[in-house]
Amino acid sequence: AQVVNADFVKSSVRPDDCPRDGLPEFALVGRSNVGKSSLLNSLVRRKRLALTSKKPGKTQCINHFKVNDSWYLVDLPGYGYASAPQEARTNWDEFTRNYFLSRENLVSVFLLIDASIPAKKIDLDYASWLGQKKVPMTLVFTKCDKRKKKKNGGRRPEENVETFQSLIREYFEAAPPWIMTSSVTNQGRDEILLHMSQLRNY
Ligand code: GDP
Repeated sequence: AQVVNADFVKSSVRPDDCPRDGLPEFALVGRSNVGKSSLLNSLVRRKRLALTSKKPGKTQCINHFKVNDSWYLVDLPGYGYASAPQEARTNWDEFTRNYFLSRENLVSVFLLIDASIPAKKIDLDYASWLGQKKVPMTLVFTKCDKRKKKKNGGRRPEENVETFQSLIREYFEAAPPWIMTSSVTNQGRDEILLHMSQLRNY
């Protein structure tokens, strides 16, 4: 399960604009600043494949990257910008939710959760929504290398991960698969790629 090549294909502003070749795809989504661009770059071992602008409103696109000419990694807009105007947030909601519900070749959503901080309501809401809609989901915990007690509010990444999982349990018939990662140490990188390859062959 190695990435031999990865190329940016296109940015889409509607689910209808997305590539139509039916190749399997995996969507990465998470709160802004969760470490999504870092993870995407670490997966494809490039410094700046995901040149995502950090400004709300500028990244309201679905970005498709083709890997090994046979499947897609999809970068979805980050959610939870406190500063984004309400209208932009509502748009974002409709747009990505439509994508989740209508995209037939979507194999699994990879929902990124920052393991260095306690569970956030917006992430719990997001995970439970996906669970209730039965959208296949994999939990990817990011920043698992961050262990400084002060910054973590005294809690270790493992504890935050456990709490998060117990809080969403009721929304899932079976616990979603989960992977602990760090873009600093590359922890979890191979595990994600292996998991994606298993899901594609399933
Ligand atoms: P995005 O907004 O979700 O695309 O997040 P970025 O990839 O831009 O990362 C946001 C911030 O978190 C940056 O300052 C990164 O350096 C930092 N960051 C991202 N991933 C990790 C990680 O695995 N470990 C640590 N310690 N910091 C990370």
